[in-house]
Amino acid sequence: MKALVIGGNPAGMSAASRMKRKAPDTEVIVLEKSHEVSYGACGLPYYVAGLNDDLDRIRIRKAPEFEKNGISVGLGQEVIAVDTEKKIVTAKNEQGEESTYNYDKLLIASGTSPKVPPIPGIRQNNIFCLKTLQDAEAIKTAIQKSKGNVVIVGGGYIGLEIAEACVLQKVKSVRIVEALDQVLNVFDEEFGQAVKDELEKNDVAVCTGERVQSFEGIDGTVTEIVTDKGRYPADIVILSIGVSPNTKFIDSVEKLPNGAIITNTAMETSVKDVYAAGDCGTVYHKILKKPAFIALGTYANKQGRLAGDSMIGKEVCFDRALGTSMLRCLGMEFAKTGISEKEAKREGLDVKIKTVTTRSHARYYPDPVELTIKFVYDAKDHTLLGAQIMGAKEAAWRIDVCACAIDQGMTTEELGYLDLGYAPMFAGVWDAIGIAANASK
Ligand SMILES: Cc1cc2nc3c(=O)[nH]c(=O)nc-3n(C[C@H](O)[C@H](O)[C@H](O)COP(=O)(O)OP(=O)(O)OC[C@H]3O[C@@H](n4cnc5c(N)ncnc54)[C@H](O)[C@@H]3O)c2cc1C
Repeated sequence: MKALVIGGNPAGMSAASRMKRKAPDTEVIVLEKSHEVSYGACGLPYYVAGLNDDLDRIRIRKAPEFEKNGISVGLGQEVIAVDTEKKIVTAKNEQGEESTYNYDKLLIASGTSPKVPPIPGIRQNNIFCLKTLQDAEAIKTAIQKSKGNVVIVGGGYIGLEIAEACVLQKVKSVRIVEALDQVLNVFDEEFGQAVKDELEKNDVAVCTGERVQSFEGIDGTVTEIVTDKGRYPADIVILSIGVSPNTKFIDSVEKLPNGAIITNTAMETSVKDVYAAGDCGTVYHKILKKPAFIALGTYANKQGRLAGDSMIGKEVCFDRALGTSMLRCLGMEFAKTGISEKEAKREGLDVKIKTVTTRSHARYYPDPVELTIKFVYDAKDHTLLGAQIMGAKEAAWRIDVCACAIDQGMTTEELGYLDLGYAPMFAGVWDAIGIAANASK
């Protein structure tokens, strides 16, 4: 069997490695547009922040290591077309020379690219996105050279991580401009407000409900950002307004309106022998019961591995995505799993909501902090459907308990009596999760 993989980052390389390990006779070829494979993009903000000064540590495995295991890696090969009738893929190299590859099974693992909207002046020096190792290097160099005015457009996960990085790098002025009414929009409003408060406490200006209209510059280098509400000096601009799936090279498969390839729970697309995994595709959302676009590294790794299994004929099923995610922003941790209150409203679900603020651990043991826990649960049978947690510490990991509870269809009553551990430095005798669950009647 000949398996072709488009894209050589977590999803693609997980699938390639899995196929080679479990079915060594499979011929596995990976086509990767760039000259990097298998790096941890999630580590890039911390390189920018100066918490890690060795970019090479973010390279998890390099191409020769995969080659040694029998995987053929074509670097600098950008796939430009797929003929799913003839089972032929066309790629071009940096010189524009085209090559074709046939396949028995094809995996699309081409990820996403940052959105760069056609705003006047956007193509100027010192306007960056953060996606690749090279982006991180360029941003860090620019920040260390300038230390001046950094404007971050977009207050989602990546924008907030960059804001933290700028604070740690002692940038003179950091501003986030966000078109929506809150930052961290996947969370409910009160969590967005808490992030905003934390940013402002650290002298980061946060402009919500404000839209960028143009970027002004001198000699091709940005100097100012103009919004519908004001003008701000900008020596460096970082765009983090979301991502688009890299799927333009294939038309024959079904996609969501944003271009994400729709897959079933075995990572199969609507076309036979064509699979998709990671950010370029969808995950099956356990609560919403439909394919959803949630671009997270956790899914890229899980789906990649399972796609590898699926392609060599094993039965697999990944139907338990909950959008579980975590973020530290300066002195606060935020985490979410399942659905938020506003998602429940949007989906027309009959839910109850409970928010509880309690202590992270025993009051007599040093430094307990306040944790705020919000539960969304079924109004009739009390099945837990979503959780959001924030606190200065010991908050984020607790979301994993909630993810298990939601995955297993537990009610708040069951969660309230779950056998969670207790010692004074870790928890109260009733853990914060148990307290929130028992209050969710
Ligand atoms: C700054 C940052 C921080 C993040 N932090 C977190 C986090 O804390 N937690 C978390 O869960 N996730 C995080 N993520 C998301 C995570 O990195 C992605 O979900 C993950 O990288 C997706 O992996 P992928 O293999 O699906 O796609 P990608 O990583 O996008 O890789 C796709 C690969 O395909 C290649 N490619 C694209 N088009 C073609 C083509 N036509 N031909 C050939 N090759 C092609 C690309 O060059 C790329 O190497 C973060 C992402 C960023 C950028």
